[in-house]
Amino acid sequence: MAKDFDIVVIGSGMGGLVCADILSREGYKVCVLEKNKQVGGSLQTYVRDKVIFDSGVHYLGGLGEGQNLYQVFKYLGLMDKLKLQKMDEDVFDKIIIENDDTEYVYAQGYENFIRQLLKDFPNEEKALRLYCDKIKEVCSKFPLYNLRSGGDINEKTPVLEIDAQSYIESITTDKKLQAVLAGNNTLYAGKGGMTPLYVHAMILNSYIESSWKCIDGGSAIGKYMVQNIRKHGGDIRRNTEVKRIVVEEGKVSSVELKDGSFVAAKYFISNMHPVRTLAMTETTIIKPAYRSRVKELENTVSSFIVNIVFNKNAFPYLKHNYYYHKEGQVWNMTEYTEKNWPLGYALFFSASSKSDVYAESMTILAYMKFDEVKQWADTFNTVSDEEDRGGNYEAFKKRKAELLIDLVEEKFPGLKKAIKSYYTATPLSYRDYIGNDDGSMYGIAKDYRNPLKTFISPRTKIPNLYLTGQNLNLHGVLGAAMSGVVTCVAFMGNESVVEKIRNA
Ligand SMILES: Cc1cc2nc3c(=O)[nH]c(=O)nc-3n(C[C@H](O)[C@H](O)[C@H](O)COP(=O)(O)OP(=O)(O)OC[C@H]3O[C@@H](n4cnc5c(N)ncnc54)[C@H](O)[C@@H]3O)c2cc1C
Repeated sequence: MAKDFDIVVIGSGMGGLVCADILSREGYKVCVLEKNKQVGGSLQTYVRDKVIFDSGVHYLGGLGEGQNLYQVFKYLGLMDKLKLQKMDEDVFDKIIIENDDTEYVYAQGYENFIRQLLKDFPNEEKALRLYCDKIKEVCSKFPLYNLRSGGDINEKTPVLEIDAQSYIESITTDKKLQAVLAGNNTLYAGKGGMTPLYVHAMILNSYIESSWKCIDGGSAIGKYMVQNIRKHGGDIRRNTEVKRIVVEEGKVSSVELKDGSFVAAKYFISNMHPVRTLAMTETTIIKPAYRSRVKELENTVSSFIVNIVFNKNAFPYLKHNYYYHKEGQVWNMTEYTEKNWPLGYALFFSASSKSDVYAESMTILAYMKFDEVKQWADTFNTVSDEEDRGGNYEAFKKRKAELLIDLVEEKFPGLKKAIKSYYTATPLSYRDYIGNDDGSMYGIAKDYRNPLKTFISPRTKIPNLYLTGQNLNLHGVLGAAMSGVVTCVAFMGNESVVEKIRNA
């Protein structure tokens, strides 16, 4: 079969697009195959009641001049194009807790972060300084995170096995401060006794450095990368689902699409979940032991989303987010029961070019396990492939949405009166749009008890098949972008691209 392309990228999530953008700049002829109508994976937006909602970009860190995501975006020519809004310097996140009227504040900049928290914890300066120093120290161990080339695994090994919860509990005996410092752990689906400190540190550091919202939605990130890829001779095919990765004579020769046609290339990069990638790749080159090791890794929990459209000028727009948890539950929120759901929620206002005084819309996010929607697992529903999941499903969503809105109303009296309409998404929505098995928010969960087991290499046993995306190193827009860079480094066999990004 003629090789039409140098590289086929399966999936146009953040990681896949970063790979395609970088490698097309390097002169490779790239083709991106995306199953959805819209590119971007979790960068996708959707419109309800004429209002834009994000699926997975509520805010971004590290976009201040010279910071890590800024450098990646600058190299990709995105910084001049994206419409960004800096969140409040003195508060980007507020932590709110059941039975407590104080709104605890996270501020941008380390000194400011300490200063603002000292207002509520005047005796805890030592603990706060220790905490900030540790976050910075942990982050310094990851060369790529700091856009440094070189470095090896030994550099980071000592910090991989630190437990986030135990570390936070070791620096102060103040239970409230412990809860506050873990307060926005929905950002990484934090789980007590499992989540490593390095995950907490890399995510927190990025937002403390600087916090931003994309005005009118994060899908612009994908849109501009698509323009770059086309400009460099690449091809993007939407509504193009890969069904099988064909291995012949020890290499991937092509991928088979849903319509039965094939796309051939010299190299392949999969942005799909590794479990899906392996399931589509029939070959004895990948050993059953590796397949079962990857399959057995735990995924992070999924989510239930309520997207609210407000009546005009009815609810103030705030340049910060809220994270709520029930007392004593901050590290157990994923372990809710039917009775006590939800143990917490995150609340994001969408930045709109129409107003920054009144909020046009708001997103409430609470954890939801796939098991809760398992009875509708054999349905599939996206804009390009619509299927009604039935009345019971609609009733389930309504019941959950009302429970969640009632809980939020307790902290935000008057919220319900301001609602014009609301729309929901469940683990099934994320499963169907992203193409994983369970709607997991952030892919494979990291575990401090066996950190290396939860790292996925960008290389596979098949020499021309690579992996990319949030499942590799770290999730989030920053994490998935870095995964794209890691994959390009593995593919090119050198770190020249890291230097280019650093010097952009
Ligand atoms: C609810 C939620 C909120 C979030 N909030 C934030 C936030 O505020 N800030 C932040 O930085 N991060 C956030 N994230 C995380 C962030 O969005 C993701 O980590 C990141 O976008 C994942 O990128 P990825 O490269 O892994 O690709 P994914 O987004 O997982 O995309 C994979 C792509 O592959 C495609 N695909 C799958 N199978 C096939 C196939 N067979 N054929 C063709 N294409 C296929 C999919 O359609 C999809 O486009 C959030 C995530 C979620 C779910």
